[in-house]
Amino acid sequence: MTHDTPVAFVTGGARGIGLAIGQWFLAHGHRVALVDRDQATLDAAVAAIDRADVIGVVADVSQPGQVQRAVEAVEAAFGRIDALVNNAGVAVFKPILETSYAEFREVFATNLDGAFLCTQACVPHMLAAGGGAIVNIASILGLVGDGILAAYCAAKGGVLGITRATAVQYGRDGIRCNAVCPGDIDTPLVQAYFDTAADPAALRAEISAEYPLERIAAPREVARAVVFLAGEDASFMSGQPLVVDGGLLATCY
Ligand code: NDP
Repeated sequence: MTHDTPVAFVTGGARGIGLAIGQWFLAHGHRVALVDRDQATLDAAVAAIDRADVIGVVADVSQPGQVQRAVEAVEAAFGRIDALVNNAGVAVFKPILETSYAEFREVFATNLDGAFLCTQACVPHMLAAGGGAIVNIASILGLVGDGILAAYCAAKGGVLGITRATAVQYGRDGIRCNAVCPGDIDTPLVQAYFDTAADPAALRAEISAEYPLERIAAPREVARAVVFLAGEDASFMSGQPLVVDGGLLATCY
């Protein structure tokens, strides 16, 4: 580990897909800052990894001041930010008529405001360094609709918009920006959806059966796509959504 070792800044990194992304970056020669809003969950994640090249930084990505301080903390600890992964996300499982404006704003605050604020805080450091990579975690629901996730679909569509805008504006400065659009991934977030059913195991089986691969995915299957997009193997990819969905969007019925 040297000052030349690249650094990944991963939001929502204390658990689920974000934690898997952090671990995959570590396995591929990065230092990693896991950024999340709950100190205890973050401490547990960092302790479980137990490496000198990972740090946990507490921040709510919807709060501009906290985002700015988190970026400064990572710069102070590691001296650079090569990859930003805007992964922090929340969902409200309601159709539009049942979604309050406060719930709508809450979903946007983390998924879209968070991506905007972290991008705005990290890009100046990437510009100063001569480049970088941003990967935004959207969803297949940024591309297609789900009636019971109205605010989430809207926010993830916005994430794809900011992905394109960032790619177009900063490509000439050596910054690439792409998105990953996962299908159902086995994390606490998707378990919360299964738990809305009287029989969560039956709903899990029903959803899994919808997939051509007949299963939902493990978080590391998204992490691999993220680290690919952030790295040299994706050197000519920018502004794109990469769908990681076991073939779901390829189906008609
Ligand atoms: P989890 O809920 O398992 O983990 C998300 C993490 O982000 C949690 O630790 C959560 O903390 C944190 N977080 C939430 N809001 C904020 C915030 N404002 N500031 C900082 N941290 C925050 O979710 P997943 O791992 O499943 O999801 C990760 C991303 O992948 C999200 O953007 C999600 O929309 C997306 N995605 C997930 C899919 C899935 O099936 N799981 C499918 C498609 C996309 P806390 O516990 O406090 O909420």
